[in-house]
Amino acid sequence: MPPRPPAEIGAPLAQIETPALVIDLDLFERNLAAMAEALAGSRVRLRPHGKAHKCPEIARRQMAAGAVGLCCQKVSEAEVFVAAGIPDVLLTNEVVDVRKLQRLADLSRTARIGLCVDGPAQVDRLAQALAGRDATLYVLIEIDVGQGRCGMAVSPDIVSLATAIGRVPGLTFGGLQAYHGKAQHLREPEARRAAIADAVERARIAKAMLEGAGIPCPVISGAGTGTFRLELASGLYTELQAGSYALMDADYARNTLDGPIFAHALTLHATVISTAVPGQAVLDVGYKGAAVDSGPPVPVSPQAEVIGMSDEHTILRQPARKPLAVRDRVVLVPGHVDPTVNLHDWFVGVRDGHVEALWPISARGAGL
Ligand SMILES: *Cc1c(COP(=O)(O)O)cnc(C)c1O
Repeated sequence: MPPRPPAEIGAPLAQIETPALVIDLDLFERNLAAMAEALAGSRVRLRPHGKAHKCPEIARRQMAAGAVGLCCQKVSEAEVFVAAGIPDVLLTNEVVDVRKLQRLADLSRTARIGLCVDGPAQVDRLAQALAGRDATLYVLIEIDVGQGRCGMAVSPDIVSLATAIGRVPGLTFGGLQAYHGKAQHLREPEARRAAIADAVERARIAKAMLEGAGIPCPVISGAGTGTFRLELASGLYTELQAGSYALMDADYARNTLDGPIFAHALTLHATVISTAVPGQAVLDVGYKGAAVDSGPPVPVSPQAEVIGMSDEHTILRQPARKPLAVRDRVVLVPGHVDPTVNLHDWFVGVRDGHVEALWPISARGAGL
């Protein structure tokens, strides 16, 4: 059980204990609706990435808004989502520990479960894990479409790997994962367009190689919040994996967008605990409550400048017009949603100035 929540249902905003991750439910629902609208009339399905929120309640709402299933990055996340009733989970990553693969195999008796491989070594591990087990997993071959992380280069080796997958009892070859994570954060629309055009071309070649060898390739899965409209328009991708769109963060706000903008549904609420040093206001949240890999959280209400951070503190320059006082609340937009969420146990859902929902972040943690 997670520790007790930072608020009670019905409490006004001022009674939320800080630091707390707060979801504006109106904006959150609007983000889900905006994504559903973007996909309406297309055969492309949404498979939102659960690593952004790690929260079964959000996953259920995404399914209710039309998602075909969820993505996750860790076996522990898949276990939480399947236990929460999500019927179809794709682990968009490589897994090589036989015990972990057996946990995935066990999940496949309750839900449809897929994962990625990018070479024969992972298929060998899967064969070991599934030997003598009543389980079926579908496998996507991850190809490198520019991310330069996991993913095999597009070559005829893809055909031999798909054939090898098909020979392992319990495994089905499902198609390709073609995710270009770096493209999400290219600031200019033109740069993102060029990156995804290249990714689409590589995926097209890979698919043609498979089909040329008589191997159907029903799924091409990829895309994130920064580029999903491009993959959607490609005519090639069948599934979009966007995750951050539901909550958003300050880093995504730095992209120059070429379509409707998702709202900052997620904020981090903090309290001023000291103004003893002239010119400064010190908040009760630091690195242990806010990830800084994409820069510090951005104070938006009131607007202020972060001039320092440590484990449990964030130092703001006192706003000139209206200096902050001890006990004042400050609302910040997290720099990067995924690693920030991972530091917290609860989302506090608010509407009309009051707490309406408390959602445990059940899959938080480094994750086995
Ligand atoms: C993180 C991730 C996504 C989602 O990206 P967002 O930027 O959060 O929308 C999709 N696919 C994979 C493989 C990822 O790792």
